[in-house]
Amino acid sequence: PVVSQQAAPAVSSKPSCKPAVFVPVDRSPEIQEARLKLPILAEEQVIMEAINENPIVVICGETGSGKTTQVPQFLYEAGYTSSNGIIGITEPRRVAAVSMSQRVAKEMNLSHRVVSYQIRYEGNVTDETQIKFMTDGVLLKEVQKDFLLLKYKVIIIDEAHERSMYTDILIGLLSRIVPLREKKGLPLKLIIMSATLRVEDFTENTRLFAVTPPVLQVDARQFPVTVHFNKKTPLDDYSGECFRKVCKIHRMLPSGGILVFLTGQAEVHSLCRRLRKAFPFQKNSTAGDDDDRKESVEEMRKFKKSRRRRKAATLPQINLDNYAVVPVDEGDEDRDAETDDDIAGSDVDLDLGDGDSEEEEKSDSSLPLYVLPLYSLLAPEKQAKVFRPPPPGTRLCVVATNVAETSLTIPGIKYVVDCGKVKKRFYDKITGVSSFRVTWISQASANQRAGRAGRTEPGHCYRLYSSAVFMDFEKFSAPEITKRPVEDLILQMKALNIEKVINFPFPTPPPAEALAAAEELLIALGALKEPPMTGRLKEQQAAKLSCPISPLGRVMATFPVAPRYAKMLALSRQHDCLPYTITIVSAMTVRELFEEFDRPAASEEETVKLKGKKGRLVQMQRIWAGQGSLQKLGDLMVMLGAVGACEYSGCTPKFCEENGLRYKAMLEIRRLRGQLTTAVNSVCTDAGLYVDPKMKPPTEAQATYLRQIVLAGLGDHLARRVQAEELLDDKWKNAYKTALLDDPVFIHPSSVLFKQLPDFVVYQEIVETTKLYMKDRVSWQLPAVEVDYPEGIDRYKYFARFLLEGKVIEKLGSYSQCLLSSPLIMLKT
Ligand code: ADP
Ligand code: MG
Repeated sequence: PVVSQQAAPAVSSKPSCKPAVFVPVDRSPEIQEARLKLPILAEEQVIMEAINENPIVVICGETGSGKTTQVPQFLYEAGYTSSNGIIGITEPRRVAAVSMSQRVAKEMNLSHRVVSYQIRYEGNVTDETQIKFMTDGVLLKEVQKDFLLLKYKVIIIDEAHERSMYTDILIGLLSRIVPLREKKGLPLKLIIMSATLRVEDFTENTRLFAVTPPVLQVDARQFPVTVHFNKKTPLDDYSGECFRKVCKIHRMLPSGGILVFLTGQAEVHSLCRRLRKAFPFQKNSTAGDDDDRKESVEEMRKFKKSRRRRKAATLPQINLDNYAVVPVDEGDEDRDAETDDDIAGSDVDLDLGDGDSEEEEKSDSSLPLYVLPLYSLLAPEKQAKVFRPPPPGTRLCVVATNVAETSLTIPGIKYVVDCGKVKKRFYDKITGVSSFRVTWISQASANQRAGRAGRTEPGHCYRLYSSAVFMDFEKFSAPEITKRPVEDLILQMKALNIEKVINFPFPTPPPAEALAAAEELLIALGALKEPPMTGRLKEQQAAKLSCPISPLGRVMATFPVAPRYAKMLALSRQHDCLPYTITIVSAMTVRELFEEFDRPAASEEETVKLKGKKGRLVQMQRIWAGQGSLQKLGDLMVMLGAVGACEYSGCTPKFCEENGLRYKAMLEIRRLRGQLTTAVNSVCTDAGLYVDPKMKPPTEAQATYLRQIVLAGLGDHLARRVQAEELLDDKWKNAYKTALLDDPVFIHPSSVLFKQLPDFVVYQEIVETTKLYMKDRVSWQLPAVEVDYPEGIDRYKYFARFLLEGKVIEKLGSYSQCLLSSPLIMLKT
């Protein structure tokens, strides 16, 4: 029977809630067969009845049970998009939004014009779109423009168990929007989907929903997974332990895919490399990942030839007046054949079915291992490889970060190797100082990871830690909103005229001190109206927590960047600085501009190769840093130079590869520049701004203004070099004092200012690794800027005064105003 027909809606007592039509979908037989295996298909009728009868429904089900791919199809078939109104699905991760929209389009045999996605920088949404996957941040922005979300008939909040900050806020907002839509006679359905349990934060939260929504449990056809704990917990070398475990599994156990959980990109790559070395393909095979493919002699020859061609082709395009580009060294033998990306052999085998007959239980030590990396920054084409069957006669081994835990279900996994760790970003609640730390996962995560092994048949999970350690894991990891600064969120909420943020129905409220810190910063940035300083201290403090948004704040809230950067944009109207600020802000909000060459190498050969690449990058960075007062822009000028040079060469993968730039980051910057330009044009009455991708370097005067503009957004992130007479002890050598910390802080070695050590710098962020380093958000790059001080003022005294008063934020807020006495961006009225 065609299962989807079960979804034909019964006669309704509330016709406005139930669509009356049934929309047929033309699926291919293979897809239909695969769907029928999903546990959620059996529940279609129950799910649709619950949705028809209730405004809000919670669906819980094991990862891989079919929630994300099937529920939107149920709704579509039941006619929810047949009259004005579409289905929106939010995902906390971009990877999931893109890949799920593609999968659903394919399953339904519909084009991307109908089943589309929208993430921060890109999307393929059209007027015909009926099912729209998006990141949670994208929907939050839409609430600002249309509070009732009138274009949606259904909103699905997916992966609610991840408790990402925007997902939490959306659930809070939607708890108010759903009743408002009901009142208007335009009901909106809200479906909250979650993998693991612990939905009580939503369902039993009386501030959230007046009536407890029904919770549907999708019966997961989960096969038993045998969990093996290590007797001892290896202290450091979990990566090496993973390697040994995979080797053992591959040599000794019957066929079935292996999924390894590690914590970061570098680890993933290094394990992939070791595994490929241990279980290589035959000479002529091209399968495997491009990054470290061992080229045969023939391939190498072709590659060298193409490189010579490339060299000839690239050089004349560079305008040396604008951005100097160093010609490729003769000795530069080391590049990976990045351009040969797409020739992996797995493509060829796509149509070869699953090969059940070959799944015999044999242990074949000579079997090649088909090793694939998977992490969120990986290019989408490479990510998609994990969904395809491995080349025949090989065993699939995916080495992944946390993305494989719930967002993506990889087919055919029978063995899971879980290192028990995850890399997480930690923030200091008061200073906002962040650090990436590798910590133990929660018990819920460990069980999720184990579950990945039992999707298609009984599986095994190898935990590289002891059961005693497992018992000490926290049960669930804490919601994101309780752990990070919330100023961007608070500004968005204020723009929605939610003034008393404290009263908002958060599923889990952020800590009071984080809320207070956010409001303080927003007041300092001028985004909120400062409360009157009258009344008693308590009243003043209370007033501070419910300030309304200022006109400047409204401008800032329209920019899709954090408040600090929004402030920079809002100040950049004068002296044609906007194109530069837009570029700087884009570059500062994109992760990892430059390739990372400091990673551990597998061989001596590779060490040399990486060293060479790094050398060239450092050389380029010095050139991009410019001359004269441009140099005072420090790493920001490097960013401007890199972006300008890259655009000048046509922003090609080749150029990026040759100069140590991350191609994906460059594309993101390009998109964000376009998006910010549009945002500025829609806010300004008369800007008529056009940003030339290949902009010229700023003039000396512009460079000075740019430093002030950056300071206006990062006024509290000022650091002063410790002078010789202040040196308390050795740990203060070359150190800086900051307003927010007592400890010494250093310029990161990757910064162009590392050796110059200017007296004052502004930093984007402090990150703690071996020391406290001033760095850009996550990259190896320090956007430190030298700061000019008003003439006639003793600079050190000036700074000391701020420190003494401990009110750097407030003082600098007005200080930067006086530096920039020209008008702000005008609001469109
Ligand atoms: P859930 O949301 O409940 O975790 P999904 O709807 O994501 O489940 O996945 C359902 C099934 O669809 C899984 O078995 C998964 O392997 C499969 N699937 C998802 N995306 C793809 C894809 N791009 N290619 C092939 N199979 C896929
Ligand atoms: Mg899902």
